[in-house]
Amino acid sequence: MSACNRIRFVLVGTQHPGNIGAAARAMKTMGLSRLVLVAPEKPLDEAAYRRSAGAEDVLGDAPVLPTLAEAVADCRLVLGCTARARRVALEELLPADAAARAVQRAGEPAEVAVVFGRERTGLSNDELQLCHVAVHIPSDPAFSSLNLAAAVQVLAYELRLAQLAGVPAPAPEPGFREQVASHAQLEGLFGQLGDTLDEIDFHKGRAPESAMRKLRRLFLKAELSEQEVRLLRGILSDAQRMARLAASGSA
Ligand code: SAH
Repeated sequence: MSACNRIRFVLVGTQHPGNIGAAARAMKTMGLSRLVLVAPEKPLDEAAYRRSAGAEDVLGDAPVLPTLAEAVADCRLVLGCTARARRVALEELLPADAAARAVQRAGEPAEVAVVFGRERTGLSNDELQLCHVAVHIPSDPAFSSLNLAAAVQVLAYELRLAQLAGVPAPAPEPGFREQVASHAQLEGLFGQLGDTLDEIDFHKGRAPESAMRKLRRLFLKAELSEQEVRLLRGILSDAQRMARLAASGSA
């Protein structure tokens, strides 16, 4: 199975079905066929099929899911494409670097998602927070927003180049190589980390969002394996147990 078959393009909250068709065409020209739709505003219509110009199979096979978290739960790399710099502390990559990383991760093998936002408002900060890396096409800052299908074309093209260049497979490490954690496993860790920080009163009245953003970035940078996530969650469980004991002792 080629790496491209493990890379899905996820369109979130698309407003114009025609753009979904144009995105499917853009993908198919570059050998990509896995399209996922998250809560599109309108169902696929005649304009969508017309603008897919022969990529009806890509459209017809596209599952429709209610949330981005569900669309990427099994992915081990989630790239979020954004037209503007955001207050979300995420590593930011150029399309070519993002594509190289995606093809390498897909070759491990692992599932990869490339996520695109709404035509009017892009991805919300909460949605971008679910991504591991932000990807920005370095457009003119004074006019930075590409049409959705044009942005899909740029990423699909870069993925094609990366695949044709034959991004080297990850160097075999001595011994067993641990599988990098999935999106759902990382979200489980982040959820428990947030609860634990509350329980040990880490924030002391400050809003938790800023610390959580930095902690997410720290753990994403580490590319945690499944086993490392389990180890960290074990430590958090013990910290939570001690915090409850201390709370019941001082009550
Ligand atoms: N007005 C929106 C842009 C929406 S364009 C905003 O300011 O966020 C629709 C989608 O295309 C975006 O959510 C993003 O996924 C993608 N896109 C458009 N321009 C882009 C760029 N310069 N870099 C990366 N992605 C881009």
